Amino acid sequence: MNTKQRIFSAIQPSGELHIGNYLGALKNFVELQDKYDCFFFIADYHSISGEYDPQKKKKQIMDLTLNFLAIGLDPEKCTITVQSQVPEHTELTWIFNTITPISELQRMTQFKDKSQDQEKNINMGLFDYPVLQAADILMYKAYGVPVGQDQIQHIELTRKIARFFNNKFGKTFPEPKDIITETPKIMSLIDPTKKMSKSHGPKSYVGINDEPEIIKQKMKKAVTDIGTTGKMTPATENLFLLLKILGKPEHYKEFLVQHKKGIIKYGQLKEALADDIINYFTPFRAKRKELESKPEYVKEVLAIGADHARKIARETMREVKEKIGLVL
Ligand code: ADP
Repeated sequence: MNTKQRIFSAIQPSGELHIGNYLGALKNFVELQDKYDCFFFIADYHSISGEYDPQKKKKQIMDLTLNFLAIGLDPEKCTITVQSQVPEHTELTWIFNTITPISELQRMTQFKDKSQDQEKNINMGLFDYPVLQAADILMYKAYGVPVGQDQIQHIELTRKIARFFNNKFGKTFPEPKDIITETPKIMSLIDPTKKMSKSHGPKSYVGINDEPEIIKQKMKKAVTDIGTTGKMTPATENLFLLLKILGKPEHYKEFLVQHKKGIIKYGQLKEALADDIINYFTPFRAKRKELESKPEYVKEVLAIGADHARKIARETMREVKEKIGLVL
């Protein structure tokens, strides 16, 4: 039996992964897998609460799995699978729905933001998204959830749902904590008041799978300030943060000194940063290409993950149904 504490997190298969996803979540997944019993899911049910093309969904799921494996998640160390392969998640969601006050969901900032992004499709799934997320996490009685800053409010709600359940039916779920990186919120390259996100268009982010030429073009268009001395603007702060984590240490030091002296040329900084990002993700791109030729292996990883996850999910559901009086 595995005695390590459990970690759960998931990402939606809804398009490319960008360096914000990597620095806010995925980088941490890779680091945590050595220390914890990790469950990393492809949240396909969450993703259908947004706009999507059913013809593309299967490829998006396979692409995200490839990304997980190519970035370094090891199926020997962690359980990787697709949310809809474990139907207990939606079953537990329904039970949690009956103990979650609507007022809690109405406060969620992601719901408010996404309602603006998809104003013609404000569906019930979008509203209930955090409850499904709570079911994902609590199903495995996770100790921690590695996420970016935008998800902290949802993890707080997950803790509340655990508390509501425990208070009503007896101690069942631990209250999970959020685990954030030193870069929990990477900002958009073209609008530093917004977080980097797929929903703000491809110019706002660098994809971890972008080809070198595309990375160079996107970095060229990144906004900066006019290079005076003193405090950094949010745009330049964001670029320096990227350089600090993804760049060569000497680049970071060099440009920081130039910025302090007021002699910085942002064109040069963006060029150096583009090159450093290209280098940083070169091994990932190579590994991904290699895995693209092995779809059977990728499917097998998901199937083994689903088998393992289902065993735990069944146990949790048995316990939950007994506690709420639904076992005949
Ligand atoms: P998106 O917001 O691009 O649709 P997801 O909702 O699929 O991305 O997020 C997947 C993970 O990446 C979550 O843990 C989320 O908190 C994290 N994340 C998303 N955007 C950023 C960002 N700009 N900076 C840091 N982390 C982020």
